[in-house]
Amino acid sequence: MTVRPLVAGNWKMNGALESFEEFSKIAAGYDAALAEKIDMLVCPPAVLLAKFAEVKNIAVGAQNCHSAVSGAFTGDISAEMVADAGGTYVLVGHSERREGYGETDADVAAKAEAAWRAGIIAVVCIGESLEQREAGETIAVVTEQVTKSLPDASNSENTVVAYEPIWAIGTGKTPTADDVAEVHAALRKSLEERFGEDGSKIRLLYGGSVKPSNAAELLALPNVNGALVGGASLKAADFLGIAEVYKNF
Ligand code: PEP
Repeated sequence: MTVRPLVAGNWKMNGALESFEEFSKIAAGYDAALAEKIDMLVCPPAVLLAKFAEVKNIAVGAQNCHSAVSGAFTGDISAEMVADAGGTYVLVGHSERREGYGETDADVAAKAEAAWRAGIIAVVCIGESLEQREAGETIAVVTEQVTKSLPDASNSENTVVAYEPIWAIGTGKTPTADDVAEVHAALRKSLEERFGEDGSKIRLLYGGSVKPSNAAELLALPNVNGALVGGASLKAADFLGIAEVYKNF
């Protein structure tokens, strides 16, 4: 089964209007050779979305959305607003949202449904804590998360899953290649059991301290269909260095 990879950048709360220059370098680096092999996405802070969406050759998305269309939710943005600003993806359930704002699997599933309602793709993030990994609970934890965070109507067109071990995010630490392969195999099995043949096409990204120096090993693993990149997506050279690994595949 060939699945078209996605290399996605999560800028978190970094960047300003002047970052348009760096973003433009990323977009310019997404050349015909890369476009033939992969999709690329940048999720900047929401206030930059409309500006970044002026560049048409690369996808942009938001880092979060509310599940409602509109209403008295001070500080939030809806998936419809993301779509209106030109976003075509939204990250939901990033561990920084789950941990910092108490988002549950049910909240994440509601946000994924909101994304589809607005006609955009949900990137559903899951991942275990260090304590859970050390207790040998990783597979059970991520399997439960993927089951509860993905609504029944999930499919390979409307949903991407990003496996991000919490302890690997922003720390420079990554699981071993064998560990990543084991988790992705378990996630694939769970998706296939639930969604049948389409479950083998849902993109499974790895995220957590991906950088140009480790991208080739991680992205070559079975059932790894791309990366969700935080810190290294802020610099065009690094982000493109990760994506360009696919030119050799
Ligand atoms: C992330 O924020 O999703 C992430 C993977 O961050 P980093 O690449 O910096 O570990």
